Amino acid sequence: MFDAHAHLDAMAQRAGLEASAQFVDDVMSDARAVGVVAAITVGDTVASSRWCVQAAARHPDVYAAVAVHPTEIAGLTDTDYAELERLAADERVVAIGETGLDYYWVRTEPHAQQEHFRRHIDLAKRLGKTLMIHDRDARADVLRILREEGPPEQVVFHAFSGDIAMARECVTAGYVLSFPGVITFKNAPALREAATAVPLDQLLVETDAPFLTPHPHRGTPNAPRLLPLTVSGLAAAIEQEVAELCAAVRATGKRVFGIDGG
Ligand SMILES: [Zn+2]
Repeated sequence: MFDAHAHLDAMAQRAGLEASAQFVDDVMSDARAVGVVAAITVGDTVASSRWCVQAAARHPDVYAAVAVHPTEIAGLTDTDYAELERLAADERVVAIGETGLDYYWVRTEPHAQQEHFRRHIDLAKRLGKTLMIHDRDARADVLRILREEGPPEQVVFHAFSGDIAMARECVTAGYVLSFPGVITFKNAPALREAATAVPLDQLLVETDAPFLTPHPHRGTPNAPRLLPLTVSGLAAAIEQEVAELCAAVRATGKRVFGIDGG
């Protein structure tokens, strides 16, 4: 199994540790001990994207995604985009993400967010990379902008949080939905229902570590080693064997990111 979305730099920061090669080694060996043999570490600023590319260069189990998160786009310049593009060209960068729209925090007004989202879509298309989307309370605009721009070949909705109608719409469009630890929460029956609408070959699983820690570890920082809880939660929600789900997710990881998940 592999973790389709984690922030290894933010994990270190939250733990009050240096985001060193040793830290990454420790996180990934804990993960490997429970069968999580790879992770994508996802950038949310230019500096974080730079860190992610470096982590992926150093560690064979780590891949990178680069982008500037919709809550971090204020002040983003053409020079920043040039650097993102240079970083994204690295062969260990498997996605442009996370990018998208965030109408919950709205740190930047929606129209400006949309312009930056369009630039990230363009980058993904020009470089032939998968687009990794953050959508918070912005579902209609995210789907509309993807339609208007024409989506890249591979689109992943990270930490999918929509209902079954949204899941159906994404599935029809050919998008892949990545489910986080929220699927294990008692108060998430709508998310479990949404998962039942997704064919096995359009599913991924992720931690979004250090965030969205699965039950029963809520309240502590998340880590790739906790991914199996999300896997079994998702398997139960869609009434599939864990082994079958894992095999399908590995095949999807290969197709979408070129990652061999063990
Ligand atoms: Zn994230």
